[in-house]
Parts: sequence; structure tokens; C-alpha cells
Amino acid sequence: MTEETIFSKIIRQEIPTPLLYQDDLVTAFRDISPQAPCHILVIPNKLIATVNDVTEDDELTLGRMITVAKKLAKEEGISDDGYRLIMNCNDHGGQEVYHIHMHLVGGHKLGPMLKR
Ligand code: 5GP
Repeated sequence: MTEETIFSKIIRQEIPTPLLYQDDLVTAFRDISPQAPCHILVIPNKLIATVNDVTEDDELTLGRMITVAKKLAKEEGISDDGYRLIMNCNDHGGQEVYHIHMHLVGGHKLGPMLKR
């Protein structure tokens, strides 16, 4: 049984967090601890704990996460300069919240993808 995280409460607005986008499949809001001038989280409304738990039934939702990230990047004015979309999985991936989420980060040059 997968346990709900704080993200489910944000989706339902039981914890009031300004939403940048919400539809029947996904929700987006700003990261509480931004790592770049623009740092937004795009998450599925359905609780999926990790990328390992994604199934073919989730393909529409996963696709929507990307089209919403694209739309928000444009609204944030970072489309042309560019940005990064990140999904962390489990311990080695650095995942902290076990409700999958796509980080949309940008607003300055991000540098190498991984620290060496
Ligand atoms: P992860 O490390 O799991 O990929 O990223 C989790 C992200 O969720 C972190 O960047 C963290 O700052 C963000 N986060 C954790 N709790 C909250 C919260 O209550 N509200 C918001 N807006 N972001 C959160």
C-alpha cells in the first residue's frame, strides 16, 4: 500500500499552496526550496510512488506532465534560453518525496547535468 505524501494534500489544497496549473491529470506548483530562479514541480494527481511504479496506463499522464512543463516554461519566460526537466527515482536518484514529480528548473545557466 503506497502512503500518501504532502503532495496529495497540496493537490487537494488541504495545504494551501498556490497552483500554477491543475487539470484532471496533473498539478503544478513552485518548489518550496527553489534550486534555480525558476523551480516548479509538475506532478500526477494520481499517487505513483516512484518511476518504477509507472505503468502503460499512466502514459497519458506522463505525457501531460511534459506538455504542462513546456507551457509553464513559456509562461515563465525561460523557453528560449532553455531549462531542465528532472525526475529522481529512489535513494540513488535522490528522491525525497515518494509521489513522482518532474522538476522544471531554469532561469539561469544550469551547468553540467551531474557533478563529477
Ligand atoms: P525530490 O528530491 O524528491 O526529487 O524532490 C522533492 C522536492 O519537493 C524538493 O525539491 C523539495 O524542496 C520539494 N518539496 C518538499 N516538500 C514540499 C512542500 O511541502 N511544498 C513544496 N512546494 N515543495 C516541497
